[in-house]
Amino acid sequence: MSFAPVLDDLPLRRSPYLRRFEELIAPKTDSEFDSMAKIARSLTLQNFGRTMRLFAPLYLSNECINNCRYCGFSRDNPILRVTLTLDEVAAEADHLLQRGFRQLLLVAGEHPKFVSNDYLSDCVRLLAPNFPSVAIEVGPVTEENYQPIVRAGAEALVVYQETYDRVVYNELHTSGPKRDFNWRLDCAERGYRAGFKRLGICALFGLSRWQDDAVALAAHVEYLLKHCWQAQISVSLPRIRPAAGAYRPPFSLTDRELAQLICAFRISFPQVGIVLSTRERASLRDALIRLGVTSMSAGSHTEPGGYTRRGTEHLHRTVRGRIIAPEFQDGEDVLATGQFEISDERSPAEIASVLRKQGLEPVWKDWDQALASVV
Ligand code: SF4
Repeated sequence: MSFAPVLDDLPLRRSPYLRRFEELIAPKTDSEFDSMAKIARSLTLQNFGRTMRLFAPLYLSNECINNCRYCGFSRDNPILRVTLTLDEVAAEADHLLQRGFRQLLLVAGEHPKFVSNDYLSDCVRLLAPNFPSVAIEVGPVTEENYQPIVRAGAEALVVYQETYDRVVYNELHTSGPKRDFNWRLDCAERGYRAGFKRLGICALFGLSRWQDDAVALAAHVEYLLKHCWQAQISVSLPRIRPAAGAYRPPFSLTDRELAQLICAFRISFPQVGIVLSTRERASLRDALIRLGVTSMSAGSHTEPGGYTRRGTEHLHRTVRGRIIAPEFQDGEDVLATGQFEISDERSPAEIASVLRKQGLEPVWKDWDQALASVV
């Protein structure tokens, strides 16, 4: 079972669903776009009610052995790095708990030495009692290595394919295990077999022609709905943001195209979750939540220790992967480097208030591990 042959066959073979999706993302007049928006809004209401899940990313580590040209955590970037201790993770989580969050996304670069399977399991075990929904977004591992993380209490797995174009993928991932395209592509299915109840996938828009990645992402969703039918599937539609390394994306996805893409996913896959992160600016997020989005991050930090300034005592700088002692200048901000710049900097409380004003109920918790025994 693998999505790879389906992806490679896409130029020749597309299901009726995918052909419909392609039509939905083709250029539209204003009135056609308005009709799409109305249908998307109504389908979202029918399937998800007037609700919006709120979650927060908790960055555990920015160590990474990969070089991905668009990412601030790339191994060769001379950035300030840290892997939080369990006490520091607990402090960050407590900060988020106080702000109402019960759904966490644990994020880390790929570095088996610092971000080992045991470390991830320990983090999840530590947080699961207070957070009914713990998701992970970390370097892909085997099904067997996902199992202890699931047993520790993680219920969701998020993996970005970045781009579904093999040639572009190869050019962007210049070294490290992430160069293995198929290993990443099959990650969601390995996670499903290991027991994750939610699977999140996406492309990072800006790396390749957005229409091609969108069709491939839709094909991947269609495939997972068929082959991982017991899991809840969600998609994110992130656009690339400025980061260390100063990568300039060669392609763009305009605000209007992003809105149309959200509508196209909602119309094509009425029951699939759509995630919107703080990469997008506040005014745009406020407009997009009315279309088809079902889950949002709020008040996010992309640097490990960013919520509480923990971990600063054991920061180090790396130069081409070699650890060197950092030399701080007076007044220099000594937090670890973030993965990318956040655009919507409003607090979780402000986001919740915006949602209520739009007639939506912010949902801080919609899953309990106790339910796992009855589904
Ligand atoms: S995208 Fe992920 S794997 Fe690539 S450098 Fe960034 S953290 Fe590492």
